[in-house]
Amino acid sequence: MTRADDPVTSVDDSVARADDPQHPAATAAWAGDGFETLAIHAGQEPDAVTGAVVVPIHPSSTFVQDAVGVPRGAYEYARSANPTRTALETCLAALEAGTVGLAFASGLAAVDAVLRTACRPGDHAVIPSDAYGGTYRLFARVFAEWGVEYTPVPLDDLEAVRAAVRPGHTRLLWCETPTNPLLSISDIAALADLVHSVGGLLAVDNTFATPYLQQPLTLGADVSVHSTTKYLGGHSDVIGGAVVVSDPGLGERLRFIQNATGAVPGPFDAWLVLRGAKTLAVRMDRHCANARHIADLLVRHPAVAVVHYPGLPGNPGHPVAAKQMRDFGGMVSFTLRGGQDAAVEVCRRTRVFTLAESLGGVESLIEHPGRMTHASVAGSPLEVPADLVRLSVGIESIDDLVDDLTKALDDHQDL
Ligand SMILES: *Cc1c(COP(=O)(O)O)cnc(C)c1O
Repeated sequence: MTRADDPVTSVDDSVARADDPQHPAATAAWAGDGFETLAIHAGQEPDAVTGAVVVPIHPSSTFVQDAVGVPRGAYEYARSANPTRTALETCLAALEAGTVGLAFASGLAAVDAVLRTACRPGDHAVIPSDAYGGTYRLFARVFAEWGVEYTPVPLDDLEAVRAAVRPGHTRLLWCETPTNPLLSISDIAALADLVHSVGGLLAVDNTFATPYLQQPLTLGADVSVHSTTKYLGGHSDVIGGAVVVSDPGLGERLRFIQNATGAVPGPFDAWLVLRGAKTLAVRMDRHCANARHIADLLVRHPAVAVVHYPGLPGNPGHPVAAKQMRDFGGMVSFTLRGGQDAAVEVCRRTRVFTLAESLGGVESLIEHPGRMTHASVAGSPLEVPADLVRLSVGIESIDDLVDDLTKALDDHQDL
């Protein structure tokens, strides 16, 4: 079937067909464009053949051709495209208000695809001085060996960024906001203007904020990247990544890299992320409310030295976060007056907050970045404070979370 014969693409038909529940156009006719509606419906029309309301998991690696070079549908081979993955990619593009969405086998595979697309040997990138450790490792240990130079800069200091970019040479400004693990905030719109003025692209790792709280593309960024392992998946049961862009040409170049290098998610993994995304908004509302409670508790507790949470009015990133985010997210980090030993002891004592790496799942997690997630950046410019504890505040009952953390922090004389 050629596209011209395909009745789904005919806009004129859509009203007449809207009462035919079997037709994909029927869904398009009534679907709204609110975030929660897109999360549940974008790319997820009821199956045209069976009427299945939930997108099927398509394990097939290959698709029939009716004659040589005439595929029956839109699919040929599942590395290039798979219907379950297409549903996820369509949904992700809608949630980020972009035009092209691409799903990857992990967050780092997504980062890798952006770097391969944007940078050539001899090019230069600016990265956050507190970048995600795996992203830093990719720049420092992989792409540096292929001749891509990088400069770590605190991105909340626009003058420092201006001094670091090299006109005509800086191809990429890599931004994370809020950052991991110190939750510092940078101004996406200002960074976009700055890097565009020297001919580069702005990529934002939007993992911590999620598209529900922050939409980098609408703020002027060129690329939004996710580890869907975290909030988008939301249940700590899948590893995945995503890239969304507004420029279709850039989307095509990324699609080429995705197919050429092959770091695609399997259909079941794509389906798990798609299922997680449906509840992203309600989960984030609870993550944010619980995190705000926990931040308030920590600020008042005598064992705690400094609380890093952009929702606190005294936080240096608060004004920019309030401008570009719907709410302040579910991550909180803090330092202990008792230093590193106290930080390690608090991580040992909690019961509801589970001691584990990662973040963004429904369950609350606690960790010691210096010895766990950020151990690989020890001795580098990205080293994190030894007395720091990071919380991924989950969606359990807030009373239980407060009790658990309070018990772990009390008796702070021995912390
Ligand atoms: C986890 C994470 C990544 C890497 O994602 P993986 O799915 O583990 O490969 C990238 N950026 C941020 C901010 C992350 O938290």
